[in-house]
Amino acid sequence: MSVRTRFAPSPTGFLHVGGVRTAIFSYLLAKRHGGEFILRIEDTDRERLVPGAIAAIVHDFKWLGITIDEGPSLEELKSADPSWSEDWGIGGPFAPYIQSHRLPRYKEVAEQLVASGHAYRCDCTSQQLEEERQIQTAKKEPPGYAGRCRTRNVSPDSKHVIRLKVPHDETVVLDDGVKGKVRWEGLALRDSVLLKSDGFPTYHLAHLVDDHDMKISHVIRAEEWLPSAPLHLLTYKALGWEPPIFCHPPVVLGQDGKKLSKRHGATFVSTFKDDGYLPEALFNFLVLIGWSPGEGEEQEIFTREELINRFSIEHISSSPGVFSYDKLNWMNGMYIRQLPLAELVERVIPFLTQAGINYDRKTLEQIIPHIQERMVVLKDVVGLIEFLFTDTLSRDLEQMFNKNIDREKARLVVTQGAEALKKLESFTAPQIDSTLKALATELGLPAGGVLLTTRIAVTGKKATPPLVESMEILGRERCVKRLEETAGLLA
Ligand code: GLU
Repeated sequence: MSVRTRFAPSPTGFLHVGGVRTAIFSYLLAKRHGGEFILRIEDTDRERLVPGAIAAIVHDFKWLGITIDEGPSLEELKSADPSWSEDWGIGGPFAPYIQSHRLPRYKEVAEQLVASGHAYRCDCTSQQLEEERQIQTAKKEPPGYAGRCRTRNVSPDSKHVIRLKVPHDETVVLDDGVKGKVRWEGLALRDSVLLKSDGFPTYHLAHLVDDHDMKISHVIRAEEWLPSAPLHLLTYKALGWEPPIFCHPPVVLGQDGKKLSKRHGATFVSTFKDDGYLPEALFNFLVLIGWSPGEGEEQEIFTREELINRFSIEHISSSPGVFSYDKLNWMNGMYIRQLPLAELVERVIPFLTQAGINYDRKTLEQIIPHIQERMVVLKDVVGLIEFLFTDTLSRDLEQMFNKNIDREKARLVVTQGAEALKKLESFTAPQIDSTLKALATELGLPAGGVLLTTRIAVTGKKATPPLVESMEILGRERCVKRLEETAGLLA
């Protein structure tokens, strides 16, 4: 069987990490088997459409390095979203890949179901449906459409919807790729709407027609769709179509055991990008939420190729995965440390530019090796090195003082430090180091205190890249000037 998977977002907002994890599972499964990964836009819920949402999804995919084999063409995208300005589109043999462009096909299938007696037209008004609901609620019955139009033979010329005639008391069994066998006994499903009166299909019809027409072999989708799966299986049966293999991975939880939401922290893929997470780290991290390469496997850092080679749906866990921000931070730091220095320089530049830092490349290249170990996210670069590219520092002098160092002692450190550094033959890290240590001995102060005072004077911060290396890069003149300036503040 050729493996074809799809990601089918509704363009109603930004891509959530939970959703993208599902997309990654689908992508890996297709790539593992040399198959195709398809992007389909499910824009049938017209009221919830957000302009620009498709472009945001495409950006996130590009950033994560997820390649799409088939998807909407440029023309399709332009006509579906008037704000489309990207030079991006794919196309493919099963076009169109945007559901609002496929309406005649859904109507055709809905009519086919009516003709075969598996579906019927319903002209109940929203008022009638509301009255029905109220009566059911008063009688403490589960609310839902009871099938008034099942036998009414509603005319095709009236304003109507098409509903599936759901057989009652059926037993439906789903052989889920993740959950195993799931049984629904004595089903009491309501007759769901397949085609709305405006000619748009519901999700239940649209995704199913598309998955069939696009020859999708595996549907990996959020667990929230599991309760609708029997309805979908019954529709496949009514149409005489072979259903795909369904996989419903469990939801992603926050560390408190509740469904991951913005209460826990960032959840949009784009926010992780803006915060300086590496796409390869986020990708690796997301795959490991709810999937593992096998029992007892300790490895956590995997290349894209390794993930493709090892991925299998059998190893998706049937219990929910937890999104640990601490683990992501750890993993991102690991990925940052693995980057070649030249690459790290390139990756931090957008963050410096964004922060308005007027960096020079030579200094940047000199400092990067000293901060690589200290970065958790790329954005950390700003706070760590901005002191190198500005001469206006704001210093919290209070941070210098402790039981060993008061204002007067701090003033001595910076005044005498400046003098000693002026006299150095060459202004190198080892020489600066021994000068500051000698100064500590001379003043009878702990070396740590002298270094801290100097650090705040020279960088304005308590935590920075290694001090003496930073000072060497900053240069004698600027260091001396900053120490003297601080002496003035402490006077
Ligand atoms: N458009 C649906 C959603 O965004 C897709 C579900 C599916 O993958 O079938 O939830």
